[in-house]
Amino acid sequence: MAKRRPVIAGNWKMFKTVKEAEDYAVTFLEEIKDVTALDIVLCAPFTALYSLKNEMEESIVHLGAQNMSWADQGAYTGEISAQMLLEAACTYVILGHSERREMFDETDEIIAKKVRKALAAGLTPILCVGENLSIREEGKAVERVQGQVSKALEGISPEDLSRVVIAYEPIWAIGTGETASSQDAQEMCAAIRSTLAEFMGAASEKVPILYGGSVKADNIAELLSESDVDGALVGGASLDPQGFSKLIHNA
Ligand code: PGA
Repeated sequence: MAKRRPVIAGNWKMFKTVKEAEDYAVTFLEEIKDVTALDIVLCAPFTALYSLKNEMEESIVHLGAQNMSWADQGAYTGEISAQMLLEAACTYVILGHSERREMFDETDEIIAKKVRKALAAGLTPILCVGENLSIREEGKAVERVQGQVSKALEGISPEDLSRVVIAYEPIWAIGTGETASSQDAQEMCAAIRSTLAEFMGAASEKVPILYGGSVKADNIAELLSESDVDGALVGGASLDPQGFSKLIHNA
């Protein structure tokens, strides 16, 4: 079976003011204007999304948020709803990033509620999963990651599951400069796909599974050469428009 269409998503995390985001957009759009072979997503801070909407409207770049609420609206101080993201022209939302799990106590149950809400609203969730170093050293990485996938997706219809993107991000590789080997990434992405197959059968072959963790312009091609790695979620290397466009051209 032919490989899936690659997805390269930038995760800016808590970087860039509105002005910085607008400047980035001008340079970035110029650099990637010829790209047609893959989907590009920029996951920006909430405050920058609305102005990026104007910059990106006519472009091939999809906008994404880095988190959202499981609630629709109401007395939820500090939260952002799916409808608000749609209004800012978001089509993607990162959910369950390890920084949210670890620093903001997001559990598998919370993430599962958010995934459902995103799908119901018509957003594409980029569900992040990944093990920390001690779990890997104990030899329990596959079990942990498959468990995270199952808990987040249990009970969702196969039809809705076909709109999910998964990002495998080993915590020990995020922001550390230490990338998983392409074989390790492949092994885990294949394990994730086999868990998806339990929920949705052969349609699991259509779900994009990304790798994230110190992806750069010089390692993207090798990662993408693996049969189950369909793209990347890129943090630090997405912050510079020229650098990120180079990574995209190398993909
Ligand atoms: P990194 O971050 O590319 O800076 O390692 C990836 C991520 O956390 O999504």
